[in-house]
Amino acid sequence: MTATNPYRPGRDHTSRTYPVVPPIYQTTTFELDDTSYDDIQGTGGLRETWYSRFNNPTVDAAAAEVARLHGAARSMMTASGMAAIATTLVTLLRSGDTVIASKQVYGDTDDLLQRDLPALGINVVRVDAFDTAEWERAAQEHRPAVLYGETLSNPQLRLMDIPAVAKVAASVGARLVVDNTFATPFCTRPLALGADVVVESATKFLAGHSDVVAGAVTTDDEELMEEVQRRLITFGGCMDPHAAFLAWRGMRTFGVRLAEACQAADIIATKMADEPGVEHVRHPSRMDHPDAGPVIDAVMPHAKGAMLSLALEGGDERALAVLRRLRVGVEATSLGGVETLASVPFNSSHFNMTPEQRLDAGIPPGLLRLSVGLEGADELIEDLRQAIAGTASG
Ligand SMILES: *Cc1c(COP(=O)(O)O)cnc(C)c1O
Repeated sequence: MTATNPYRPGRDHTSRTYPVVPPIYQTTTFELDDTSYDDIQGTGGLRETWYSRFNNPTVDAAAAEVARLHGAARSMMTASGMAAIATTLVTLLRSGDTVIASKQVYGDTDDLLQRDLPALGINVVRVDAFDTAEWERAAQEHRPAVLYGETLSNPQLRLMDIPAVAKVAASVGARLVVDNTFATPFCTRPLALGADVVVESATKFLAGHSDVVAGAVTTDDEELMEEVQRRLITFGGCMDPHAAFLAWRGMRTFGVRLAEACQAADIIATKMADEPGVEHVRHPSRMDHPDAGPVIDAVMPHAKGAMLSLALEGGDERALAVLRRLRVGVEATSLGGVETLASVPFNSSHFNMTPEQRLDAGIPPGLLRLSVGLEGADELIEDLRQAIAGTASG
């Protein structure tokens, strides 16, 4: 039976016990009876729980939780964030179609746009995520089927004006797909702002414990969701039940984790802005953020997120030295865990750019990126202070 209410996984008609937590249905297949064949023959088995690449109750429980967090009609879980992104785009685009995508996207999404989609005969046009006029011009010129961007860019932490870009999409009959991984539904619900589909790496804040690779697709369009499900079935990007249990378990505390991490990020941003050795702090809570005002008010009206960047005096070498001296923050890629994760873009996410290209892209020398965890703001400020002091020159 499919669980609908995540807090009441439902009475399992096959059992006399009623678990509070959804069981891990670690089974590939389910016993069939006459009614099973109605759906298998009717929809191709999209609704029936009969084979775990199609449906699985533990995976459904995780999906119901993502949908609830977005206030959306439906979500589907995928094996990874990239499975969510690739499956969605391949569902919405045909050979000869055009997708207009922002230049500022996650590295593997960039590969998908630069290499894999063109190989399928899909035209890819790139625009500056933060320039609504550019979205508008490109949409008028190219008549795209899809517009694609990220709520919050990495590591500039700038915001896409989702309501404005959604209007552009609607004006040309295109679908707007938003990667909401960095913002999370705690800060931003893109569907309510006019987006058609949300894709997310549940690996990050949604699952939140750095212990499972997972993704999710969310939409209010039931027909589109069926189309995505058909591609998940044929391309095989489905989620495993055990991973689904971990994702569901992580989302159980999503609200309290994000409330704490966002508040800690606010406090760290305020305190570190005046710290010797720190040139600049980038966080959407700051008045000097380039999107402060109407864009932040619309896209992140309440909590401002748990991602934070510090530009350190002394450039990239200093940033690396500070990173290596952290005792609480962990030097690692990824984000959204209960532990604070820190990285420097120049040797990781943006290593293949020259310093000039990075500067052009809004990544100043000395940038340190933090995914704020649950250690507490004071502990993290103390950690940053000792690392910065310990690397001061002269
Ligand atoms: C991590 C990430 C992805 C990819 O997700 P995986 O779960 O690693 O496949 C996509 N977009 C953004 C913004 C990410 O941070």
